Amino acid sequence: MTEEILTAKKAYELFEKDWDNLKDLNLTNLEEAEFGLKTLIEIRNKHTGKKSSFSSLMKLIGQVSPEDRIAFAQEVQKLKTRVEIAIDLAEREIKSVISEFKAAQESKDVTLPGRRPRVGHLHLLTILRQQIEDIFVSMGYAIEDDREIETDYYNFEALNIPEGHPARESQDTFYTTEGFALRSQTSTVQIRAMERHGAPIRIIAPGKVFRRDTPDMTHVPMFHQIEGLCVDKGITMAHLKGTVAEWLRRLFGKETRIRIRPSYFPFTEPSAEFDFSCFKCSGTGTFEAERCRPCKGSGWIELGGSGMVHPNVLRACNVDPQVYSGFAFGFGLERMCALMYSLDDIRLMFENDVRFLEQFR
Ligand SMILES: [Zn+2]
Repeated sequence: MTEEILTAKKAYELFEKDWDNLKDLNLTNLEEAEFGLKTLIEIRNKHTGKKSSFSSLMKLIGQVSPEDRIAFAQEVQKLKTRVEIAIDLAEREIKSVISEFKAAQESKDVTLPGRRPRVGHLHLLTILRQQIEDIFVSMGYAIEDDREIETDYYNFEALNIPEGHPARESQDTFYTTEGFALRSQTSTVQIRAMERHGAPIRIIAPGKVFRRDTPDMTHVPMFHQIEGLCVDKGITMAHLKGTVAEWLRRLFGKETRIRIRPSYFPFTEPSAEFDFSCFKCSGTGTFEAERCRPCKGSGWIELGGSGMVHPNVLRACNVDPQVYSGFAFGFGLERMCALMYSLDDIRLMFENDVRFLEQFR
């Protein structure tokens, strides 16, 4: 045997030493198995990589005498292949052990204690809506519900908003491809309820409305309105004012005052916007020696629109405006909720983050 072949054998012996060390490793848990794989990779780099002992042996070939050259090359190749096969097999084995440990870790541990299910509660908008509904029911009003996708007739025409009326544009309505509108106000329910029940009638209609607004701190494309309608013989603005003042007093306290300001809506004549004295500062504009936040220091909070039902609207529902008159009002629930709970951003109410919602039980 030539000297060179002896160096090849020596290189293999060095590998075997490392290999014995690897075989002594325990693989009884994931950590140990991962350590085994790391050790194996080190062995591979050391013995078969570019700077390994076998690679330098291959470079010796040119120095071996011609008669021994073939035998030497064959011996080096044989040992190198043996090393590579051993490493490949071991790698496959260790990797399968690792994946078994990982699978076992992911499977259910029946000895762990159970997790208590979280108990839900009503959304803050629902809580406020129910409070307002209860107040109106106690005042003799019925709760009316109706569809959210409407025809052009119910969303505009019957509400005295004919084709070409500027109010149609300002409302920025969503339309379906078939030409239906997502209702832009709950006033549509006034029409449907009067068609169904005729006069006299006293209803409130809470529900979703849709407008093409880009969401920001004070706008969302879907929000809730509560609409009120009262039609009977001899109904006047005084009844409107008394009713709005009464339900706000029941919600915010006996001292609550209201004021109405002239306004314009196509479906009421005359029309008015209504404000109520701030629930936080009792209308003084100052709370704890600071400018009151909900009313921005004015003492008044603007809430909604109202007015006497337009005779054209009554006619559209086959109610005779010579016999009957009525008032209607509407306001946004999200805005009211935001004021009551001092929320700067109404989008919080729709993000459904449980940490936020849990504060309002
Ligand atoms: Zn205030």
